[in-house]
Amino acid sequence: MTETKDHKAGFVNIIGRPNVGKSTLLNALMGEKLAITSSKAQTTRHRMFGILNEPNYQIVFSDTPGAIDPAYKLQEKMMGYVQTALEDADVILFMVALEDKNDYPQLIEMALRANAPVLFLINKTDQNKGSQTFDKTTYWKELYPELEIMTISALEQNGTEVLLNRILELLPKHPKYFPEDELTDKSERFISAEIIREKIFLNYQQEIPYSSEVVVTSFKEEDKIIRIDAEIYVERNSQKGIIIGKKAESIKKVGMEARKDMEAFFGKKIHLQTFVKVEKDWRKDDRKLSRFGY
Ligand code: GDP
Ligand code: MG
Repeated sequence: MTETKDHKAGFVNIIGRPNVGKSTLLNALMGEKLAITSSKAQTTRHRMFGILNEPNYQIVFSDTPGAIDPAYKLQEKMMGYVQTALEDADVILFMVALEDKNDYPQLIEMALRANAPVLFLINKTDQNKGSQTFDKTTYWKELYPELEIMTISALEQNGTEVLLNRILELLPKHPKYFPEDELTDKSERFISAEIIREKIFLNYQQEIPYSSEVVVTSFKEEDKIIRIDAEIYVERNSQKGIIIGKKAESIKKVGMEARKDMEAFFGKKIHLQTFVKVEKDWRKDDRKLSRFGY
């Protein structure tokens, strides 16, 4: 069928410091289009996951919470984190606000070296004074001539339709990653596992994040709370000790941070239990396939 052949799908990761407007953009991009499917029961869930479905495309947005968190100034951590976000992406949205200056040059350079195309978004253009938007576009263009710059106001939904069309042009031909009208348990588990994985990247050094895998073994949604069990796999006993930390402080921190993000993401209270396990050869499994639940 031609519909299948021409179907586009991919992962679009939004990177940027906190408060730059990532979540606002996500809502703006999802909002209009989702009206089409709003009669379906699962609509709000789609919105939470940031999966935009149309007959001929599916965009899986991820709003990398905390990508550039001042609490984690250590370069290597930021780099490690952003590296994964970049590797997973088909299109990268690198967002700055109108007032921002070139505070994260390493991150921009890293994004530009990634395999995926980068759209550099200057957000909050509704706050423009005089020729500020024009001046800032010139400023960034002079710093990084190769950047594809777009100016938007996520809040007032200015430029968001143009942005969406550009994303679609860049999106690869691919079948849907997730069922279109009903997000399965798998997708929720996938997102939950990704959030935990992100916290592992932010909280541990060197090889630990790369030696860890997260599997959500139980995801139970009740009226007012979602109960999630997750297993964190590492390759050696010593790594298990590091993950857990003194008096279990490290794993508690990971759990707390993950829970906070999950609550924002799912819009519900979360009860999260984590279990750390040693699994020598997990890396031999095909990570990507298992993560998508295939
Ligand atoms: P995030 O941390 O990057 O996800 O940022 P949020 O989407 O939560 O936005 C942070 C703040 O910036 C909120 O108060 C938003 O209302 C505001 N904001 C986001 N986009 C815009 C915009 O285009 N214009 C203006 N004026 N404010 C915005
Ligand atoms: Mg946000």
